[in-house]
Amino acid sequence: MFLTPSTAQYDVLQGEYSIPIIALSVLIAWAAAYTSLSMGERSHKSSFFHQNLWLVLAATSMGIGIWSMHFVGMNALALPVYIHYDRILIVVSILSTMLASFLAFYVSSRSRRTKKTYLITGLVMGTGISVMHYVGMAAMKMEGVIYSYDIGLSIASFLLAVFVSCVALYLFYMLQHQSERFLIRIAIALILGLAISIVCVTEMAGVTFYVPNDYLLMNGESQWMDVLFLVKSVSASIALLLCLFLFSSMLDRYAEHQLRYFDSLTKLPNRRRFERNITNFSYGALAVWHLHDLESLNRAHGYTFVDEVIQEMSHLLTSTKPPLIDLYRLDGHRFAYVARDSKGVYALQKAMERTAELLKQPILIKEQQVKLQTVCAFAISSIDEKSLDLYSQVMAVLSHPTIRFQHEIIYYDPVVHNQSFAQSIMDDVERAMAENELYVVYQPKVSTAMQKMIGVEALLRWEHPEHGFLSPAVFIPILEKHDRMMDVTDWLIDQVCQQIQAWQTNRKHNWPVAINIPGNYVTSPRLLNYLMGRMECYQIDPQYLELEITETSFVKTIDGAIEAVNKFREKGLAVALDDFGTGVSSLSYLKKIPISTLKIDKSFVDDVPQSEKDAAIIQSIISLGESLKLNVVIEGVETKEQVDYLATTCNSLAIQGYYYSKPLKAPEVVEWYKGF
Ligand code: C2E
Ligand code: CA
Ligand code: CA
Repeated sequence: MFLTPSTAQYDVLQGEYSIPIIALSVLIAWAAAYTSLSMGERSHKSSFFHQNLWLVLAATSMGIGIWSMHFVGMNALALPVYIHYDRILIVVSILSTMLASFLAFYVSSRSRRTKKTYLITGLVMGTGISVMHYVGMAAMKMEGVIYSYDIGLSIASFLLAVFVSCVALYLFYMLQHQSERFLIRIAIALILGLAISIVCVTEMAGVTFYVPNDYLLMNGESQWMDVLFLVKSVSASIALLLCLFLFSSMLDRYAEHQLRYFDSLTKLPNRRRFERNITNFSYGALAVWHLHDLESLNRAHGYTFVDEVIQEMSHLLTSTKPPLIDLYRLDGHRFAYVARDSKGVYALQKAMERTAELLKQPILIKEQQVKLQTVCAFAISSIDEKSLDLYSQVMAVLSHPTIRFQHEIIYYDPVVHNQSFAQSIMDDVERAMAENELYVVYQPKVSTAMQKMIGVEALLRWEHPEHGFLSPAVFIPILEKHDRMMDVTDWLIDQVCQQIQAWQTNRKHNWPVAINIPGNYVTSPRLLNYLMGRMECYQIDPQYLELEITETSFVKTIDGAIEAVNKFREKGLAVALDDFGTGVSSLSYLKKIPISTLKIDKSFVDDVPQSEKDAAIIQSIISLGESLKLNVVIEGVETKEQVDYLATTCNSLAIQGYYYSKPLKAPEVVEWYKGF
């Protein structure tokens, strides 16, 4: 009621504010804001659970938090009358904030957010808070007591609630990247908590309580007892709820981390972790134990038996691992020890000798003696070597034809190992092309504006019968060094043109395909001739082919490269500048070479949006591309956060990366396209 009762019949009821209870209510608001921030953040990450579950939890936590802070705050005013509560109305008032919070979170978590979105969601949330206040007041039953609202303060508190909600939601989503930093998250939560408290105080200031002149006031003490008990139980249950929520988000983050970086069978860090570390740090030495012929053990004893063999081997390796040495399970049959610096190398060598002795003994699995076949490849880093080189050296040892599996430790020797690995690649490439050991995979590129696949990049793969799966980063440099990449590129062009024709005729899929052209082939007249010949043979329109070239290809002969690119463009082929930003120069060439697309290298996106510097750099490269009227493709995008950030930098970007899809075999591309 907004009317002030007549003073002839009623007295204003004076209450007493309890400072500790006010402090408690601010603390609740802060804790709720902190928990909601954590939950909201989970909804943007890849999680075990659906995004909406995190939104519901964030909204529940925010809703209950706001409600209980308001409720406790209301009770900070101790009135000398007996109060009881209407439970149904209390539930209605909690539900109103939860519903408003959910709507607000849901709308503002959509990827396209404008000022209008924040205004509308702020209005919804502010209304929710006000409804909660009035329903909450109605739930407070005080016999004989009536109250009135000050219209001015009521309107002010509503506007304040809307304003605070807008600011809160804006902060929530604009600072979500920074909110991963603990202190920033605490600070944002504190601002939100204080803001909510101010709304509550304004609302309470707008209420005046009255009692009839002849009303018999209660003894303050006993009333305090009731309220204190209520406040304590509300606070304790809220604290418990918030702890549970916080714990669940921590658990989810932990589960995601464990799944991503640890092997579930041995609990050792996995290949992903190994690759991440080995590209980021430099190491003293690397030792890889290879377990040979697990397939026949699988055939003879079954998979569970072999799982136990692997677990046993992992126990054995863990038991010989010296301190400051890391152990990883690389894949089914390989374990890696890494010495973090040169000081650990000697300890690692000694440990490997001990391990070799132990592995010579049969191991006992399910009362059966199993004799393993193992070998250890060991590479020690020299001063100017990258850790990635250590890995290729170890692989060269393991793929050497003379390798035996008799628990030896074989040290990498450049004369023996490198030559022969390169040689075997050279010897085998012809057969690989003829027998489809070499094959092509296609990685989708997705337009952020259209949310659809706009093309693919063709990438080479080699399933080698002896060396196993070979990464193009391993075999292409060898083929280039020995001038075999031109032939392989021709083979690839033929494969791609066949595939484009198949896609177009069978399923009417018109996807442009990008082909990587090695540096020294770009300026060769043979390339254009071959391309034209294949396009004619398979009747392919040039708009469906794109050539990716890197800066290094025109460092030697800039004029030759300009001429070559001009010719490709005249024939209607698109040309992309690959790995932009990693080469020598960039800008001066950009002006001169008539390319159509700029592909920004993965290294610029890796730390976006957390790193402000990287975010600024990528933003300027994108603007540069836009102002030169080039198509811009960002490579190596792996997370939703990166996609969300990139979508805010430019209207028409193309994104290629594991977030959307890894490179796929041709039939899988069609499936992926249908499911996207
Ligand atoms: P590139 O041309 O820069 O190709 C992109 C590489 O990044 C591919 O590796 C692709 O699988 C990988 N990639 C894509 N998205 C992500 C991501 O989200 N995260 C991570 N970590 N990686 C991602 P790939 O296929 O191993 O190729 C490596 C390089 O080998 C290529 O780099 C290219 O320089 C060369 N290459 C591959 N295929 C060919 C080919 O057919 N011809 C020539 N000349 N070079 C090729
Ligand atoms: Ca490429
Ligand atoms: Ca690239």
